[in-house]
Amino acid sequence: MSATENLHLVEAILAAEGKRRGLKWAIGVAPFDAVYGTLLPVQKTRLSEIASGSIEHMMREGSVISIAYAYPPYAIEAIAQGREKAWDMERWNVYARAYMRLNKALNETSALIAKELGGIAIPATVEGLSSQVSHVEQYYAQRVSHRVAAELSGVGWRGKNELIVNPRFGCAIRLASILTTVTIMRTPSSKQGCGECRACFDACRFLNNKGKLDNYREQCRRYLVYLNLEDEVCGKCIKACLKESLYAGQFNL
Ligand code: SF4
Ligand code: SF4
Repeated sequence: MSATENLHLVEAILAAEGKRRGLKWAIGVAPFDAVYGTLLPVQKTRLSEIASGSIEHMMREGSVISIAYAYPPYAIEAIAQGREKAWDMERWNVYARAYMRLNKALNETSALIAKELGGIAIPATVEGLSSQVSHVEQYYAQRVSHRVAAELSGVGWRGKNELIVNPRFGCAIRLASILTTVTIMRTPSSKQGCGECRACFDACRFLNNKGKLDNYREQCRRYLVYLNLEDEVCGKCIKACLKESLYAGQFNL
């Protein structure tokens, strides 16, 4: 099949799986060597392990397919209802459950696409890691960032909150990746950016102090553990991006 036909095949799988699950989706395709070259050194090692025997072939001809499912609107609404220190945690757990549901959907869909193309699926996330490590940097080596492939393939731009901001869904998405050596059409990176927007900074004191902290992600990790929801999530910066950002009018879940 041609590169275009293979992209259409993957889009058709994603469309069918998304419809079956009632989830909206997005897709992009980036060159494997560009993704590899952008990752942190420890993540390069992890990606090499995942690609294992096919790393040289991947470097020459491979692609990384980035897939996303968007959260349903009710899940984002459920984030941080009430007041600081008196949050409605039961409501917030609606978001935590949607997070788990999206991870499961992505894991199953990426496995299906990998099977169809003879590729390798990289699942959405390793759940429960935040409380298992004593510093956020310990899990960089355990997971490959899906955001690099998503950014390079135009699923979205890299937001000031470090999440991928999709032009349609904001950062209310979850990601998974598929490695393949099949010829498939690549998609360009996004030209859009956050510009003057600071809505996520206004929603989170750690992001707001990002420049002064050693690694704000560590404060974020501790906050997720502190919240003690049904999964290790927060989502306040995601909600702020969707509803309060300069681009709120452009986003539509
Ligand atoms: S997830 Fe929560 S704590 Fe972490 S950066 Fe976003 S708003 Fe801040
Ligand atoms: S809230 Fe604004 S600054 Fe933050 S990621 Fe979204 S668009 Fe970018």
